Amino acid sequence: MSDTVKELKEKLFNNRKNGLLSVDDSTFSEMQNYCEDYKSFLDTAKTEREAVAAAIKMAESKGFVEMEIGKKYKSGDKVYVNNRDKTVAFAVIGEESVESGVNITAAHIDSPRLDLKPNPLYEEIELALFKTHYYGGIRKYQWPTVPLSLHGVFALKDGSRIDVCIGEKDDEPKFVVNDLLPHLAAEQSKRTLSEGIKGEELNVLIGSLPFKSDEGSELVKLNIIKFLNDKYGITEEDFLSAELEMVPAFKACDIGFDSSMIGAYGQDDRVCAYPALTAILNVENPLKTAVAILADKEEIGSDGNTGLNSDFLRFFIYDLAKMQGGDGTVALRNSRCLSADVNAGLDPTFQDVFERRNASRLNYGVVVTKYTGARGKSSTSDASAEYVASVRAMLDNAGIVWQTGELGKVDMGGGGTVAMYIANLGVDVVDLGVPVLSMHAPFETTAKFDVYMCYRAMYEFMK
Ligand code: MN
Ligand code: MN
Repeated sequence: MSDTVKELKEKLFNNRKNGLLSVDDSTFSEMQNYCEDYKSFLDTAKTEREAVAAAIKMAESKGFVEMEIGKKYKSGDKVYVNNRDKTVAFAVIGEESVESGVNITAAHIDSPRLDLKPNPLYEEIELALFKTHYYGGIRKYQWPTVPLSLHGVFALKDGSRIDVCIGEKDDEPKFVVNDLLPHLAAEQSKRTLSEGIKGEELNVLIGSLPFKSDEGSELVKLNIIKFLNDKYGITEEDFLSAELEMVPAFKACDIGFDSSMIGAYGQDDRVCAYPALTAILNVENPLKTAVAILADKEEIGSDGNTGLNSDFLRFFIYDLAKMQGGDGTVALRNSRCLSADVNAGLDPTFQDVFERRNASRLNYGVVVTKYTGARGKSSTSDASAEYVASVRAMLDNAGIVWQTGELGKVDMGGGGTVAMYIANLGVDVVDLGVPVLSMHAPFETTAKFDVYMCYRAMYEFMK
């Protein structure tokens, strides 16, 4: 008796479906709890510096210690290296030698935003403003009329540092980039969308109260710098050696009547960094050394000494191998990596830019992206079939719901991740992460189910 068409289709077709259709009650409640913690992390870690601080605090409470170069660590030990407070690498030492290869998860913790220029402060028609220079790929028109908070540091000449965070607490003031009213926007509306708001129009309103005096000009600016001097002890010149960022001030929240999704700023890529972090914090006595790296600068190309296009990761693996008398080059050659990064979720309103058979979808689980890049697969590390097969087997064997994804139609655009920089070290790498709607917008959307599956995948890979 031959199979019916239905049986044959079940056996032979790729039958991926919405993961929520078959999720059991205990997984569903674990997912809910996990995402509550994820939302709190999003609210406390809006910049790479804040994410590094939060991650180290969490890790230390789980027994991680700062790695001393040259010290010998044994199997089961948990260490971290803090790179300039902007990138952090964690490791749990495995039973097997480092030389035999390590399992790396790598995510980035910087997100698109508005950085202050070195000379940001000015006054115009008795209003005080900050000049900004946008960081990462933003759609500039999305950033005006959004409440913003100020995060960052002033580094002073005496070597001290002042941390700044204003606008996150309910009773603190926020900041805003203003836009034209529709009544007077006829000329502006003729601009293309990419020029709707220009880079030099992303000026942040920061005050209007003049210093009370009968004489002099720039009294509003004076009052602001006096406020900053009273609060932080800084002068206008101290902006020259500062890193200050304007980010959306709103908190992470549930989206939808059914609360099945999360809306927040900076989910690209805290939505993958948080799973990589929480996964390594739960790894105990792995066979292979587990490594999780949370990196800076991905949104501007991974360049610089806190980005993954630097030798930071290479040296970290070398140091781990060297302490066992091993060879770091051999270790890298035997290592595997999940580059934890988001993909674009299929948007019901903008389906035209996607090729539906290969687009990732909300609630279909963690998304494996074999290659990114643009045009003819330019600027990507196209993961090997063999490596994808091993990741596929791992996910299926662990019952983790997953899907594949491609970033839009061929020649529609493109993008990249840290995958190729890690691949350049000789490591096997594939991208794995969460589908996102409105990626790089001030408020991005993800599905809780996919976030939780991302955590499960990261843990399975490193455990
Ligand atoms: Mn990303
Ligand atoms: Mn991004």
